[in-house]
Amino acid sequence: MKRIPYATQWIDDEDIAAVVATLKSSNLTQGPRITEFEKKVAEYCGAKYAVAVNSGTSALHIACKAAGITKDDEVITSPITFVASSNCVLYCGGRPVFADVKEDTINIDPQEIKKKITPKTKAIIPVHFAGNPCEMEEIQTIAKENNLMVIEDAAHAIGAEYHGSKIGSGKYSDMTIFSFHPVKHITTGEGGMVLTNNEELYEKLKFFRSHGITRDPRYIQRNDGSWYYEMHELGYNYRITDIQCALGITQLKRLDNFVERRREIAKRYNEVFSNYDGIATLKEMPQTKSAYHLYVILVKNRKFVFDKLREANIFVNVHYIPVYLQPYYQKLGYEPGLCPNAESYYEKAISIPMFPKLSDDEVNLIIKKIKELIK
Ligand SMILES: *Cc1c(COP(=O)(O)O)cnc(C)c1O
Repeated sequence: MKRIPYATQWIDDEDIAAVVATLKSSNLTQGPRITEFEKKVAEYCGAKYAVAVNSGTSALHIACKAAGITKDDEVITSPITFVASSNCVLYCGGRPVFADVKEDTINIDPQEIKKKITPKTKAIIPVHFAGNPCEMEEIQTIAKENNLMVIEDAAHAIGAEYHGSKIGSGKYSDMTIFSFHPVKHITTGEGGMVLTNNEELYEKLKFFRSHGITRDPRYIQRNDGSWYYEMHELGYNYRITDIQCALGITQLKRLDNFVERRREIAKRYNEVFSNYDGIATLKEMPQTKSAYHLYVILVKNRKFVFDKLREANIFVNVHYIPVYLQPYYQKLGYEPGLCPNAESYYEKAISIPMFPKLSDDEVNLIIKKIKELIK
């Protein structure tokens, strides 16, 4: 039997044709496909502005820079996430502060956020784990009361909804980031984006994407001639290419279908696993529509089940090792035991295959195999 991965992209002929057409055009980068992709994602989400970059990690980094995160600032995030969600704070010289997750959704707990706020706290980075939106109303209230920025890490959640609005709309936050890595909902190979409704943040994001350089007459201080540009910030080269954005544009057309198929698969898994002895699943709240980037099952004998599934060519994975347990973070002084819910979740979690191209037969096979292992 061929290996079933936990996640993979779905590239069709239209995607390939769009990339080839861009390769034959005059702009491989800094051309029209980038602004078109930005506009289309912003429209899809209901946000005003979008800045496309070369990864979700770059998106987080420039979002933190635009938010003004600097030395010794504290930023509160979830421990159950990819390391990028907190590394972006370290890049800026700040200190990530981990607030524990809720047991039922594995999303950051607003009550735990409150407990972690100090005079140094500048921002909150909620992560919509597995594609299921965090309690953004509560988080927004906490942020307003304490004058904090909110940056949604929505790498798992493009296409998800909260109280009827799309994640990325910016209704409950200052900025939202997406990733277009191939395991995510839509891909550009590598890529990411920051969405915002705030013009000032938008201008800063563009600066940090490209060396802090501008030619915009609104900003330049002198003008020596038509060659002239100015560098105002220590920015980066986080630009994405037109080749990648051409792919993003055609992928975006299928996003709703991708999310629907993911939800269909989740429904089937839920039917079997949500009342199954020896297996627990995550909860989708009534106010949210999850985009199901991941489907996680929680089992007692995790290592055994994990190894047996991989032996059966069902290439399961674990999301995530609590970030602060990583050796680099341990060296920075974070102690084991910091977030008990996160650590107990980590002992039991397995991400089983979840991607739109997964066939019904494959879903049935995965279910059958898991049932055999957990009787
Ligand atoms: C994938 C991911 C990122 C980083 O995205 P890249 O495009 O891989 O840099 C950030 N946060 C979370 C939660 C992710 O899953």
